[in-house]
Amino acid sequence: MPLIPYSCQDIDAADVAAVERVLRSAFLTQGDEVPTFERAFAERHLVRHAVAVSNATAGLHIACLALGVGPGQLVWTSPNSFVASANCAVYCGADIDFVDIDATTRNLSVQALEDKLALAERQGRLPDVVIPVHFAGLPCDLKGIRGLADRYGFKILEDASHATGAMYAGAPIGSAYGEAAVFSFHPVKIITTGEGGIVTTNDDALAARLRLLRSHGITRDRDQMQHAPEGPWYYEQQLLGFNYRLTDMQAALGRSQLGRMDDMRARRAALADAYQELLAPLPLRLPARPHYAESSWHLYVVELDPCVTSISRAEVFSALRTAGIGVNVHYMPIHLQPFYRARGFEAGQFPVAERYYSRAISIPLFPRLTEKQQRDVVDALAAIVLR
Ligand SMILES: *Cc1c(COP(=O)(O)O)cnc(C)c1O
Repeated sequence: MPLIPYSCQDIDAADVAAVERVLRSAFLTQGDEVPTFERAFAERHLVRHAVAVSNATAGLHIACLALGVGPGQLVWTSPNSFVASANCAVYCGADIDFVDIDATTRNLSVQALEDKLALAERQGRLPDVVIPVHFAGLPCDLKGIRGLADRYGFKILEDASHATGAMYAGAPIGSAYGEAAVFSFHPVKIITTGEGGIVTTNDDALAARLRLLRSHGITRDRDQMQHAPEGPWYYEQQLLGFNYRLTDMQAALGRSQLGRMDDMRARRAALADAYQELLAPLPLRLPARPHYAESSWHLYVVELDPCVTSISRAEVFSALRTAGIGVNVHYMPIHLQPFYRARGFEAGQFPVAERYYSRAISIPLFPRLTEKQQRDVVDALAAIVLR
């Protein structure tokens, strides 16, 4: 039986044609495609600025820098995420810590955040930036986090890598609540540019800093120059930036994908609805569906319910892989990675994330998954957990 992957990009003829047009044009990079894609993304997400970058990790890095993260500062994020959510703070020389998750939503717990903030205030070390991660595409409780940000004075950087097109309280993720949000266009994510990402913000000054940091700290914009231009060739490096640019080929692919995003999202949602129904009889904990949010359904994670089944996650995982089902695990808690253990973190510190990890399996979910394939996944899962 062929392997059904846990995720897979959806590339159509229009996507291929869009990239080919750029390949045959004058500019492969630094032409019109990137600003055109940025405007289209910003319009679709109801946000003032969208700054395209080479990948979401680069976006998180420069978003941290633009928010002032540096040595002596403190950043908190969710342990249930990809390592990039924490690494971005370490790149900047800041200290990192984690906030445990909510067992139902698997997102950073607002209650745990509130408790940790109260303790941090007594100890005199409040965080400067908090990075909530919209895990699997399900938006975090942004109103709750915003309320705490206003009370304790930290900034919010949303890691929206999973959440392109997701909605919170009727608003697109990236349009409100956080100072900035970062999206990923890696092939397994909601839309793809191969590698790629984008940072959204409503703050003009922050957007200008992000644009500088993305391209060596260089500006060619006369209005931003510190000295009178010495000639038409003149540009200024104003700070230490990076080459974190997206290419025009990638931006053209991104704009073509963005045009189909709502269709692809609807397909993911329909598959998630079908899983919800098909898996209901099995001893599994299924993803939460809070009324305030519309998930982008990047991942479909089931948890084995230890009260009902004694079969281990490792057994289920291996049996599914053997059956040709490309399951995966999202995520081993970041603080348990050797790099973070070496920085003083240890097992037991974030018990909800650790318990969730021990039970979680991501099953296939992507727009081109067929109903037949989905039934095969459910049948294979049922055969193993009901054995
Ligand atoms: C994929 C991902 C990233 C990194 O995205 P890249 O575009 O691959 O750099 C960051 N955070 C989370 C939560 C992710 O899933």
